[in-house]
Amino acid sequence: MKIALLPLVLYAFGSFGQTYNPFYASLADACNQDTVNQNLVTFESFGEKQVGSTELENTYDWLYNAYVSYGYTDIQEDQFFASGVSTKNLVVTKTGSVYPNTYVIIDAHYDTKNGPGANDNGTGTVILLELARLLENVDTEYSIKFIHFSAEEDGLLGSLNYVNDDVITTNMDIRLVFNIDQVGGTTGMTNDIIVCERDESPPAANNAASAIATTELANCIEFYSALNTEFYFAYGSDYVPFMNNGEVVTGLYEKNESPYSHTSQDLIVNMDLDYLFQVTKGTMGALAHFVIALDEVSLSEFDKSAIKIYPTPSDGNLSIETDRLVGQKANITVFDISGKIIWNHSISSFGPKEQIQLNNLNAGSYLMTVESEEQIYRRKIVLE
Ligand SMILES: [Zn+2]
Repeated sequence: MKIALLPLVLYAFGSFGQTYNPFYASLADACNQDTVNQNLVTFESFGEKQVGSTELENTYDWLYNAYVSYGYTDIQEDQFFASGVSTKNLVVTKTGSVYPNTYVIIDAHYDTKNGPGANDNGTGTVILLELARLLENVDTEYSIKFIHFSAEEDGLLGSLNYVNDDVITTNMDIRLVFNIDQVGGTTGMTNDIIVCERDESPPAANNAASAIATTELANCIEFYSALNTEFYFAYGSDYVPFMNNGEVVTGLYEKNESPYSHTSQDLIVNMDLDYLFQVTKGTMGALAHFVIALDEVSLSEFDKSAIKIYPTPSDGNLSIETDRLVGQKANITVFDISGKIIWNHSISSFGPKEQIQLNNLNAGSYLMTVESEEQIYRRKIVLE
């Protein structure tokens, strides 16, 4: 639970420029609601997770073992003292293939206050687990740090300690900090909006970049989940020590704020698991966007001979040439700039050269995907 100190400011959402990515959509669709729910049941079962408690230690061990089971090897136990009591952040690093020394941090606190904290912040915790599970085998351009902070409820002490002892001392190059805190919604309410949080506080130098990242976050939520978005200012969670240090931050928080946070009733039964799953999917799409996740199949696109779609620009009569799909069933889909499917065609047995007519579409830029069961190719096309 967070206490707002400034008045509510809402902005109308407008999508511009950023395109829907079918691979990020496939990652979002790969999120498994049963896995997410089972992890949340386990989280809740550990009970109240105060700093210094066995319950918090048990939760830490469970998280640690989950990352091991997913195949991660770079797992850092970040020990520190919160008001004289020893506790640990868990920091799991996945190295990027293009920018190995530049990090996208996605974080969630795993300590709780006055209850098991299924929503605050079991929800953020299990989202990180699900994304890490799915991304372990996915190549990403930027490195990712999955960080589970302790002592958030004691005054953001885990993140403050991490910024002071790990970020500043190593001059860590951080592309973005993406904080997930309390995104389970409230049972009995219509939970269909997620709040995207941006930095509107001093220092001001990093605020514009936070606004851009948060607009991109909102776009991704709308592309890759069923949720709508609103903007609000970032406050009262683990991104604060980062933004005070000049880093670029963004975050997610539920729209229908739970009345049960920091009580014994912060339980799964009092939140909305379908909402949590939609937040998970949107977060997956957003993280894939921020780290630039690379589809292995799309890597083969660099082999330009794999598929030719021409001419571009085109008057609407397009040829598709490939020897990779011959004899296979394939779907051709055209997306507009906002990610909406505007044309779709299925071919039961792809030939070496297929011709399609898009003469009825308006002039402009589109994304075309040509997809068989095993492969997907995508190209930008321009119609005159
Ligand atoms: Zn929280």
